[in-house]
Amino acid sequence: MYDAIVVGARCAGSPTAMLLAKQGHSVLLVDRDTFPSDSLSTALMLPDAVFAMQEWGLLDELKAAGTPGSGLAAWIMGMELPRPELPVELYAPRRTVLDKILIDAARDAGVEVREGFSVRELTRNAEGRVTGLRGSHAGQDVTEEATIVIGADGRNSFVAKSVGAPEYDVRESGSCGYYSFYDGIATDKSEVHYGTDHAFFFFPTNANQTCVAMEAPKANWEEFRSDPDKYFAKVVPGQAPAAAERFAAGQRAERWYGMASRLAFYRKPYGPGWALVGDSGFLKDPILGTGINDAFRDARLLAEAVHAGVSGKRSMDDALQDYEQTRNRISKPGYDLCCDFAEMKGFTPEMLMRLGQVRMEEAAALVAR
Ligand SMILES: Cc1cc2nc3c(=O)[nH]c(=O)nc-3n(C[C@H](O)[C@H](O)[C@H](O)COP(=O)(O)OP(=O)(O)OC[C@H]3O[C@@H](n4cnc5c(N)ncnc54)[C@H](O)[C@@H]3O)c2cc1C
Repeated sequence: MYDAIVVGARCAGSPTAMLLAKQGHSVLLVDRDTFPSDSLSTALMLPDAVFAMQEWGLLDELKAAGTPGSGLAAWIMGMELPRPELPVELYAPRRTVLDKILIDAARDAGVEVREGFSVRELTRNAEGRVTGLRGSHAGQDVTEEATIVIGADGRNSFVAKSVGAPEYDVRESGSCGYYSFYDGIATDKSEVHYGTDHAFFFFPTNANQTCVAMEAPKANWEEFRSDPDKYFAKVVPGQAPAAAERFAAGQRAERWYGMASRLAFYRKPYGPGWALVGDSGFLKDPILGTGINDAFRDARLLAEAVHAGVSGKRSMDDALQDYEQTRNRISKPGYDLCCDFAEMKGFTPEMLMRLGQVRMEEAAALVAR
């Protein structure tokens, strides 16, 4: 019997498991994937996420893996905005790099890690409280028990579906997007180019490559999907003129990754014997690149709550209620703003100023909680 079983070992699950183990708890971390492996994400890490990596002693490892640090530059309709003074460099690691560092850090902290473990059922007691899970691992059927089962299993969370976690503040995004990895793009900045109704990005990443991404109105999805190369070539000169020449000189080194099905929601992140963290509990449109930041924040908040509950300092229910309230209080202004950007109805300098302000308020609220 474990104190906690965490399902999903990427940005949300591995830090949650690591932080619980560091507080002396017995933790099992399972993922159906094996690591290193990729996941759909352009993986820009905002300052709070970078600070978390630093605090967890993992930033040097990220740099040693050849992940370049960068400043931020933003344009709106070809006009460059004043460059923001960032408290730290930004990083956009490949998920093969980042997620491997995170799962290894959990293992090093004493977490029992089982990769290639597919969860297919939650177990319950007579009162309906979740008591553990069943799954398959290395060809065997396995049952494990815990005080709490934590779903860090992404947007289509099996745990959330199994417990019927209610969704609220659900929004449909007006965006769709593609990204890939390029050689030969001249930039040492994370670049964000807002046009009338498209957003275009360069993020320097591992292996001297640049992640190139574009968010477009969902109405254009069929055209975009039919030939992403053609769509980028058509749209970039008008929507991101300051990047056009450098983009045209680059060579795509991988296939395109994309998606149109964009939802945003909060889920109630706890109930008897279970909790949710990361995208499983709080999903945003990727246009502002906040998923990793939010996953790290909520991993901290949830680990604090579960520690308080398991160690008997507070009732688990009270601690988890605080987790939900704190998560929502800190994230809601940024969530609303992200939903505005994801409508793809135009970007204004005011929206960008508000974005900078919201990020600062979120960081301050996290410190002051
Ligand atoms: C196109 C796109 C671009 C993005 N770009 C950025 C960006 O630039 N910056 C940023 O911060 N965020 C970005 N995001 C968001 C970010 O990728 C997510 O918020 C983040 O990956 C969420 O992490 P997570 O750990 O909650 O879930 P996930 O990364 O989805 O991990 C869930 C894990 O759970 C495992 N799992 C699921 N079900 C089971 C099961 N039944 N049994 C066992 N294991 C299971 C999966 O194998 C997976 O490894 C982007 C997202 C998309 C879609």
